Amino acid sequence: MDNTEIYDFVVIGGGLFGSYAALHCAKLGHKVCLIEREDALFKKASVVNQARLHAGYHYPRSVATARMSDDNKARFTAEHKEMVFADFDKYYAIDKHSSFTDNRQFQRFCEFLDIQCEPVNNHPLFNYDRLEAVYKTVEHTFDPFLIKNRYKKKLEEEKKITLKLSAEITRVERGSSENWILHVSQGDKSSKINCSAAINATYAGTNSILGLFGFEEWNLQHEISEIGLIEAPEIAHLGLTVMDGPFGSIMPYGKSGLLSISSVAYTHHKISYANKPEFDCMQKTADCAPSQLADCNSCPAQPASNIKKMTAQMSQYFSKPIDWKHFKSLFTIKSKLKSSHIDDGRPTEIRQFSEKPYFYGIFAGKINSIYEIEKVVKI
Ligand SMILES: Cc1cc2nc3c(=O)[nH]c(=O)nc-3n(C[C@H](O)[C@H](O)[C@H](O)COP(=O)(O)OP(=O)(O)OC[C@H]3O[C@@H](n4cnc5c(N)ncnc54)[C@H](O)[C@@H]3O)c2cc1C
Repeated sequence: MDNTEIYDFVVIGGGLFGSYAALHCAKLGHKVCLIEREDALFKKASVVNQARLHAGYHYPRSVATARMSDDNKARFTAEHKEMVFADFDKYYAIDKHSSFTDNRQFQRFCEFLDIQCEPVNNHPLFNYDRLEAVYKTVEHTFDPFLIKNRYKKKLEEEKKITLKLSAEITRVERGSSENWILHVSQGDKSSKINCSAAINATYAGTNSILGLFGFEEWNLQHEISEIGLIEAPEIAHLGLTVMDGPFGSIMPYGKSGLLSISSVAYTHHKISYANKPEFDCMQKTADCAPSQLADCNSCPAQPASNIKKMTAQMSQYFSKPIDWKHFKSLFTIKSKLKSSHIDDGRPTEIRQFSEKPYFYGIFAGKINSIYEIEKVVKI
């Protein structure tokens, strides 16, 4: 007996973008299957990030990315109110040495975007020997774990969506009636899915899925990245991002009471310029390979933490010693478009690759751009 399951849409990747895409398709009336290779949703970039609800400030060299962040911010905030944390003072500052942006450029950029940027010339906490300029800004954080819980619940409640965890597509065929036939393995079971449309939302896994469906790869590069979570009571209600080059940033990690810390120089442990991530640590683990990416958080070959370097770097921007307590670090693969080195932009790319059967690819640059899918998937 043929036990092929039939869906309108299959969404591959259960991070925020895949979860949102699945809900969007269900809202359009489709029967959807969401396939995630891990044993739970949201184990990768959608929780391992700095939780910055981008308002534009972070991209002084990419007006397009800055505009897209600002455009989506109001709707994201309104629809995720209980998951957004705003009760802290957020500063952007320019390092006196080696910055790609200076204070005049940064102010001009903020004026152009019409985002608040108020010079702060004598804040007692900041070290003005290192900082050329400090600006009070308006930028909030989202709580990745609260967002995960919200989307998990929404997916469980949506009757039109079937969730397959610990599942992977092993082979793809084009069917004879404008459909895809997907061969899926889930634990020791294997099954077949027949669908008329598929959405790739696998972020670091993007090019493996494109390969399976027979489409050209996107030009990506990948970095094994560390986000440090720290306690520092004297600055718990403060965020500081130092622009624009190999500097760093701290800000509340949503509503957790912790600060996240990242550094352009120390967050990224290893870089792969191959279109599919290739790292030497993959040799040490049985379940991780360029086309089968495991979870760096539970990986025995995870790099040693750079937290001491990150806190030492950020300490230079404060006028007094900060008592940084390392709570834990989260690791994942950060992926970006190779072209992003030109302007450090992080656009979210959503593309339709084929019609009848339909195939769409999402490559997400930042969390609050989830709505971009609505502009492309309309069938
Ligand atoms: C270190 C870091 C800092 C960041 N900071 C910020 C920030 O402050 N603000 C911001 O807005 N954005 C930030 N980002 C970007 C943001 O986190 C990502 O754009 C976003 O989380 C991507 O979401 P996603 O759902 O596409 O990917 P993910 O959350 O990675 O989800 C992809 C899912 O696909 C699954 N998958 C992969 N391959 C397969 C396969 N073959 N079959 C089935 N499932 C598969 C994975 O297991 C995963 O669950 C940051 C990213 C990183 C890594």
